[in-house]
Amino acid sequence: MCRHAAWLGPPRSLASLVSDPEHGLLRQSYAPRLQRYGTVNADGFGFGWYDAALPGPVRYRRAVPIWADANMPGLAAAARSSCLLAAVRSATTGMPVEETATAPFADGRWLLSHNGRVRREAVRPLVTGLDADPESACDSAWLASAVFARLRDGVPLADALSLVVREAAEGDRHARLNLLVTGGAEVAAVTWGDTLFTHLEEGVLVSSEPLDDRPGWRAVPDRSLLLASPDGVAVTPI
Ligand code: GLN
Repeated sequence: MCRHAAWLGPPRSLASLVSDPEHGLLRQSYAPRLQRYGTVNADGFGFGWYDAALPGPVRYRRAVPIWADANMPGLAAAARSSCLLAAVRSATTGMPVEETATAPFADGRWLLSHNGRVRREAVRPLVTGLDADPESACDSAWLASAVFARLRDGVPLADALSLVVREAAEGDRHARLNLLVTGGAEVAAVTWGDTLFTHLEEGVLVSSEPLDDRPGWRAVPDRSLLLASPDGVAVTPI
C-alpha cells in the first residue's frame, strides 16, 4: 500500500512531511516501518498544497520514485502552506504506472489520496450516471471521482466519504479504503484496512505511520472517519 501524510496548521514546508523528519515520506518510500502490503513505494509520488494567491490547490506528481527526482528537495523546501498533502505510491498489480494514476487526485479545491485497493466493479455503481470522469483507469482515480462527484453536488465531506467507503466495501469485501482528503481548510481521513496516526502540535499531522519517534503519535482505530479542522480533531466510527 502507499503511504500518505497531511498537515493542517501554521504554514510549513512540504519538506516537513517528506525529508525533514527521520521517517518522513522519503524514507517511507524505501523503508516504511508499518506497511502491511507491498514493500517499497517506488511507483510515483505526489504533493498537493494551497497558496493564498491561487484559486485552487497546486499539485506536483511524478511517476518515478521520489528519491529519483533531483528537483524534489528544492521544491519541497520552498513550497509552504497551512495545508499540505503528500503521498508515495506502490502501484497495485494491474494498475497503470503513470502520473494520472498518482495521488493526489484533484477536483476544484479538493485533493484526495487513496491507500489500498478496490475492485473497480465495486466502484462502478458509485460513478455511473454521475458527472464523474476518472482521470486514470487506476482504482484510486475511480474512488476519487466517486467522492468528488458527491462533493460537487454539495454533499458534506463526512457524508460523501462514509457513503462511498461503505458502498465500495459492500461491493468488495476485501477492499482497503484508506483515504486522505482536504479542501484546504480541513483534513479528513478514513481508515479501512491500514494504519493511520495523528500528532497534535500547533496544528495536526495525519500520516499512515509516524514520521518520527517523538512521543505523542496516536493511532486512529480501523474503520473510522477523522475530521481535522482549526477547531480540533474528531474521530468517529464509520
Ligand atoms: N490501488 C492504488 C494504486 O494502485 C493504491 C495502491 C496502494 O495503496 N499501494 O495506486
